[in-house]
Amino acid sequence: MAKIIDGTAIAKQMLDELKTQVEESGLSPKLAVILVGDDPASKIYMKSKEAACSHVGIRYEKYLLPQSTSQEELLNLIKELNETDVNAILLQVPLPRGIDEDAALETIDPIKDVDGFHPINMGKLLIGDETIAPCTPLGIIELLRRSNIEIFGKHVVVVGRSNTVGKPIAAMLLNRDATVTVCHSKTRNLAKMTREADILIAAIGKPRFITAEMVKEGAVVIDVGINNLGGAVVGDVDFEKVKEKASVITPVPGGVGPMTVASLMKNTLSLALAQSG
Ligand code: NAP
Repeated sequence: MAKIIDGTAIAKQMLDELKTQVEESGLSPKLAVILVGDDPASKIYMKSKEAACSHVGIRYEKYLLPQSTSQEELLNLIKELNETDVNAILLQVPLPRGIDEDAALETIDPIKDVDGFHPINMGKLLIGDETIAPCTPLGIIELLRRSNIEIFGKHVVVVGRSNTVGKPIAAMLLNRDATVTVCHSKTRNLAKMTREADILIAAIGKPRFITAEMVKEGAVVIDVGINNLGGAVVGDVDFEKVKEKASVITPVPGGVGPMTVASLMKNTLSLALAQSG
C-alpha cells in the first residue's frame, strides 16, 4: 500500500517557515485578491487564502466585484492596484462571461503577478527563470521535494495541458531534468502512456478518472483534481484502488490544494522582496 503524502502538514510547515521569513524580512507584504461574481468554489478558496495570510503575517485586501462588472471596470481596478503599495495581485478565475481573461491577466504588472500567469512570467518559466512560478505547479514541486521524491531523470507523465497547471508543471519538471510526457483529451491510448510514468500527475478535472489499470506498480501519483461528486470532494484519481498499486500518493482533499495556498504566500513574499530591491 502506498505512502500517503500529508499535504496539509507539509503546507503548515511551509507556512511556519514563511512566517519567520516575513518577520526577518522587516517587510509587511500585501496581497490583493480580486473576485468577480460569486463562484462558490472561488469564495471557499478566498477564505483559506485569507487565513494563510493572517498566519504568515501578510496583509490581505479583497475586492469583491459584482457579476455585472464590465471588462473596463475590472481593468481599471487592476491598473489602480498596479500603482498602489500592494505587492501581489491575484485575480480569481474563472471570470464571468464577457470578460476577456487574457486581457485581465496581462493588465497585471508582471512584478505584481503572484500567480505567474502573465505571458512575461510564463515565458521566463519556459526558459528556466522561475522567479515567479504558478502556485499549483510550485506547490507540487515543493511537495515532491519535501517528500524526498527525486525528479531528476524520472519519466513524468502529466495528464492535462492547461495554462494554469499542466503546461507550467511540465516546464518546471523539464527544468529539473525529468523526461516529461504531456497528455490531453486528444491523446491516443492514454492508459499506455500513463502506465509508463514513474511519477504520474493528474490535472484533468474528471472525478476518479485515473484508475488502477492506468498506473504502473510502484509509481508516485500526484492528484491535482478537485471535483464535486455527489457533495463529496474527490480528485482525478481513483484513490482507494490506486493507493494499493502506487508507492506514494496524494489524497484529495489534503494533498496539492493546501500546497497551492502555501505557494501563494511564498510568491507574495518573493514579490515583496524583489520590489524592495
Ligand atoms: P482544465 O483547464 O479544464 O484542463 C483540463 C485538462 O485535462 C485539459 O488539458 C484537457 O485536455 C485534459 N483532459 C480532459 N479530459 C481528458 C481526457 N478524457 N483524457 C485526457 N485528458 C483530458 O483544468 P485545470 O484548470 O488544469 O484543472 C484540472 C483539475 O485540477 C480540476 O479538477 C481543478 O479543479 C483542479 N485544480 C486544483 C488545484 C489545486 O490547488 N489543487 C489548482 C488548480 C486546479 P484538452 O486540453 O485536450 O481539453
